[in-house]
Amino acid sequence: MSSVLDKKPEKEDEVIDSALRPKTWSDYIGQEKIKENIRIILTAAKQRSQSPDHLLFYGNSGLGKTTLAQLVALEMEKEIRISSGPAIERAGDLAAILTNLNEGDVLFLDEIHRINNTVEEYLYPAMEDYKLNLILGKGPMARIMELKLPKFTLIGATTRPALLSAPLRSRFGAIFQLNFYKPEDIEKIVERSARLLGIRIEPDAIKIIAERSRFTPRVANRLLKRARDFAEVGGNGIITKETSEHALNFLEVDKMGLEPGDRKILLALIEKFDGGPVGLQSLSAAAMEEEDTILDIYEPYLMQMGFIERTPRGRIASRLAYEHLGIKIKNSQSQLI
Ligand code: ADP
Repeated sequence: MSSVLDKKPEKEDEVIDSALRPKTWSDYIGQEKIKENIRIILTAAKQRSQSPDHLLFYGNSGLGKTTLAQLVALEMEKEIRISSGPAIERAGDLAAILTNLNEGDVLFLDEIHRINNTVEEYLYPAMEDYKLNLILGKGPMARIMELKLPKFTLIGATTRPALLSAPLRSRFGAIFQLNFYKPEDIEKIVERSARLLGIRIEPDAIKIIAERSRFTPRVANRLLKRARDFAEVGGNGIITKETSEHALNFLEVDKMGLEPGDRKILLALIEKFDGGPVGLQSLSAAAMEEEDTILDIYEPYLMQMGFIERTPRGRIASRLAYEHLGIKIKNSQSQLI
């Protein structure tokens, strides 16, 4: 069974994602401060008839970074080109993308922390002076060709801002952190998505789906979609409190929004390391999950919920984690947490 946290959206999910993607600022629910800040930047840029500063968005997957970039392009009435750090392998790839932009366009680079060093070097003058210095040929015959680029706005997105080099980070005019959503905002998102998809859902069911969606819009939309399948197959098409609970229990998403992967990590921490402290490498080996997956997908939510604490000596399972999993805390551990 595929997890609701799968990083790569399935084909159907992509269709749903784009169908539900907010196309106006008022449809983009929550993150009010960020929206306000961005609108000031855009209004000022418009008044000066310039393209806005380069922007960096960071935060977990599914929190709305791509959507925000699309809203920026819409507001500026420009096109958006979407690519990602790992997709740009050579300077030539970057040149092809940049020279195809029109004046004022937005270039959205997802996973910008994974851009390779060579390409990154080329990005600096492109961001600063809108030019690209390409080296043609090799050895003594090599020549530098300067390409003038249209003025564009780069919007970088990352789940791991700490992995961005300082020179790259400093070239963004503004940096925004997208946080987990408030429960009431997620409820509004579920309600809006149900309306757009023509799904009938009871208010109690909206609450239940919102509660278990890790405060993340993409997860909320996926859970809604799964609950709809259950309502259509086993019920009368309406998502009731019971169908939503049944669907989420079947998907093994518990009342706190933890799914099997989260519980596997907590259990490894508690059972194999007595609750920690333990380093990421050992935890990753014991839980059989890649370190990056733990860092990007599981840990931010487990920390947000207070199940894991990060200390200088390693990760520790909190008292809450023991209680949630119904495991008794050993005496030796109780002084630590
Ligand atoms: P990210 O780029 O951070 O991974 P996306 O922008 O792709 O996230 O958002 C994933 C999905 O979640 C979008 O398709 C959209 O439907 C929904 N979504 C994200 N943010 C919001 C929001 N603030 N309001 C409503 N829906 C949102």
